[in-house]
Amino acid sequence: MAVDIPSVPLPGGASLPQIGIGVFQVPPDDTANVVRTALEAGCRHIDTAQMYRNEAGVGQGIRDSGLAREDVFVTTKLANDAHGHDNAITALEGSLERLGTEYVDLYLIHWPLPGRGKFLRTWEAFDELQKAGKTRAIGVSNFRPEDLDRLAEHGGPLPEVNQIELHPAFQQRELSEYHRAHGIVTEAWSPLGQGRVLGAAVLADLAGKHGRTPAQIVLAWHLRRGRVVFPKSVHAERIRENLDVADIELDEAELAAIDGLDEGRRLGPDPSTFEG
Ligand code: NAD
Repeated sequence: MAVDIPSVPLPGGASLPQIGIGVFQVPPDDTANVVRTALEAGCRHIDTAQMYRNEAGVGQGIRDSGLAREDVFVTTKLANDAHGHDNAITALEGSLERLGTEYVDLYLIHWPLPGRGKFLRTWEAFDELQKAGKTRAIGVSNFRPEDLDRLAEHGGPLPEVNQIELHPAFQQRELSEYHRAHGIVTEAWSPLGQGRVLGAAVLADLAGKHGRTPAQIVLAWHLRRGRVVFPKSVHAERIRENLDVADIELDEAELAAIDGLDEGRRLGPDPSTFEG
């Protein structure tokens, strides 16, 4: 199926499709089927992680789709117990084996775990892995401005991506501004607020006006604000719905109405205190 999904260029030269599918909490035995369904619906970007325990299903789903490996953008993330230089390298080797691929497109540090004080050494390994061609792009997830500052002061490359919790109820404006100023792409995790933000009246109004669903309106808002998203669904109809949003034209007043839903309310853990 042909769907129109824009891509954003990453500093290292890779091209990242702005919409993908996330497979957090997709059971390992269902993952190949969900991934194949998404790829058949036109998706070309899969977001997994070592801690999701379903990388083998992601690899199987890609092979089952018949697509060439280079036509799919695959992200995985370092497990929290694998920080440190050598562990980070070994952990990616494990991912590549489970995925059945020679490289990933993006390797992220899943959490900074600031209390453990290891992410600078981990990042040195990420730099080496990119230079060795094991990952096309490198980035981080759940990093705060002070964590990004520490990476910058340490030298080496800046992350190409920071994947953070971001949805209408939790918009992280200061961190997004930091990303913009430093050329870091913002990936929004839980882009639909795990489905819990979709009942807002503003979204129902805009959905009615545009003849689309509240979920599609939220995803179109992310796209217009320049973010990358990978909503999770295991249902074919919702998977298709979530991919079909690039044509939704929201004007500045409509975008601002969704900006106005920010409650500063996290759904997930706080990276300052989360220790894995
Ligand atoms: P999400 O915002 O994508 O919400 C998913 C839920 O929304 C679904 O379970 C379903 O209930 C509902 N939904 C999906 N499509 C819908 C539709 N069209 N209409 C109505 N309801 C719909 O939340 P998520 O699953 O937490 O996040 C998505 C992805 O983000 C994950 O799969 C994972 O890849 C990533 N993630 C990363 C981190 C991190 O620490 N880096 C943390 C959480 C999630």
